[in-house]
Amino acid sequence: MGDVNPDGIREPKGGLGESTRALRAGLPEPVQFQPPFPGPVFTSHYHLAGDPTGPYTYGRDENPTWSLLERATAELESPADPGAQALVFGSGMAAVSAVLFSQLRAGDAVVLPSDGYQALPLVRDQLTAYGIEVRTAPTGGCGDAQRALLDGARLLWLETPSNPGLDVCDIRALAEAAHAQGVRVAVDNTLATPLGQRPLDLGADFSVAAATKGLTGHGDLLLGYVTSRDAALLEPVRRWRKIVGAIPGPMEAWLAHRSLATLELRHARQCANALALAEALSARAEVSGLRYPGLPGDPSYAIAVRQMRRFGSVVSFTLDSRARAERFLAALRLVDEATSFGGVRSTAERRGRWGGDAVAEGFIRFSVGAEDPQDLVRDVLRALEVSSA
Ligand SMILES: *Cc1c(COP(=O)(O)O)cnc(C)c1O
Repeated sequence: MGDVNPDGIREPKGGLGESTRALRAGLPEPVQFQPPFPGPVFTSHYHLAGDPTGPYTYGRDENPTWSLLERATAELESPADPGAQALVFGSGMAAVSAVLFSQLRAGDAVVLPSDGYQALPLVRDQLTAYGIEVRTAPTGGCGDAQRALLDGARLLWLETPSNPGLDVCDIRALAEAAHAQGVRVAVDNTLATPLGQRPLDLGADFSVAAATKGLTGHGDLLLGYVTSRDAALLEPVRRWRKIVGAIPGPMEAWLAHRSLATLELRHARQCANALALAEALSARAEVSGLRYPGLPGDPSYAIAVRQMRRFGSVVSFTLDSRARAERFLAALRLVDEATSFGGVRSTAERRGRWGGDAVAEGFIRFSVGAEDPQDLVRDVLRALEVSSA
């Protein structure tokens, strides 16, 4: 997608800086006396006389507020290629499920991460019930275990960095190996956001994400999206959205688009804070298993510096017991105990309380917000001190 310069000529946005692109992503072309950023369009149907052709027919199929957000999302995921398209969904899982269930048929095989988002095991059971073979392997070790399962598969699903373990796999190498065997590749880009990593540039067929998290960043909505440069691949995903009705409300879509204006500001601060926190934690004897892909020495660092532009806002680490972790969380003053991640206010949780993830009882997933770094680090170090007793 492009901007309109004063001569009315469309210019690709790929050459602009990230903040400028985020500010302008998906803005409509200027119309005299109309708002630069239109409000949400609330409607279930449109005036539609005669033969029912688009662009706007029925509210489950299309909505102008989605259209602008979809253009913005495609621009962010694929600034260099104006051919990319996006579809928005009512949640991240709606987007994830739309790709899996629209691309796979009974008898197909799919490779899923064994250490991915906690709803994937539920999806796995449903895929299996529909006669789809599900193979799973961990993300770490460059994705070698995932590569070993590609033979005869239809789709490879990657989640990198993985949530909550923060392992990273080599998207480009895995996409090449998959494509050589006729396997399509989808990447869950939730944790990195399109400012952190661009899976389509690295060879993925789909980049999928929960905009619920860092993309919108205020913890006030759920939303998902699917992007691809291949319109034909996206058609069954669109059809799935229509038949399942997994659509966002116009208000959520509008709020999400509004949030994009500050994406670069939020993301830059949150990633810098995450590194500052990881560095502070790395000096602490009571912290083990510290993970942050941007920390030199992290097992993910070597691949992360090659394929990521920024390393995200999630830090994970382990304290020596469940009780210690609970005391630590209770002692934090600037950090809410809550699930989810990517928001402007820091949150943290003991991940083991959910069951499902293969993590230690004292494992903490820490979502780093946009606080002043010295305040955040001081609060965390103080909570570590007072929880030691
Ligand atoms: C949260 C999350 C999802 C699901 O998003 P929802 O909006 O909660 O449905 C999918 N993948 C990852 C990696 C996530 O963190």
